[in-house]
Amino acid sequence: MPGFLLVLSGPSGVGKSSIGDLLLKDPAIVRSVSATTRPPRGGERGGVDYFFLDPPDFERKAKAGEFLEHATFGKNRYGTPRPFVEGKVREGNVVLLVIEVQGARQVRDAGLSCHSVFVRPPSWQALEERLRSRGTDSPDDIARRLDIARGELAAAAEFEAVVINRDLKQAAREVKALVDGWRGGGA
Ligand code: 5GP
Repeated sequence: MPGFLLVLSGPSGVGKSSIGDLLLKDPAIVRSVSATTRPPRGGERGGVDYFFLDPPDFERKAKAGEFLEHATFGKNRYGTPRPFVEGKVREGNVVLLVIEVQGARQVRDAGLSCHSVFVRPPSWQALEERLRSRGTDSPDDIARRLDIARGELAAAAEFEAVVINRDLKQAAREVKALVDGWRGGGA
């Protein structure tokens, strides 16, 4: 059975990575590790959470076509390494991309089989609280992420499905049910 890309998008802090982690319990779902110019947060490991690149290196790879998609988010660049993703889809896997909305648009145009889910917070206030309480970003960075989030929420209708993250496990179950349906349909 052919694989497909599973794009999980939504505002920063909405819980897409946590939903992604739960989906990865399914051995036929693999996560793409993105490249970024953002410095590592506490506990993040190169090659596991991200490939941490310096800006010239990132731009060189972008120019050489090594990313399936790439985008600027806040002050930083993010991109999906192409060879891993293409290889894994060819082998029949569901390849999970946890990315922001500009990248999601590019992936839809990349010509690979693709399904996309947008994760919404239950409320604006819940998103603010989550970004503040995770304690990983500076006040400036949080303000920037919230500013970007307004535009991102307006893009929800571009996605095949929208899941509200009221409860992490429930949201992950909903995404998993969508994936199972897409698999059954031969994607
Ligand atoms: P963070 O700095 O919080 O890890 O990521 C910031 C935003 O960039 C999040 O919305 C995250 O999903 C997104 N992102 C992470 N990797 C990629 C990528 O490879 N491409 C794109 N377009 N966005 C990404």
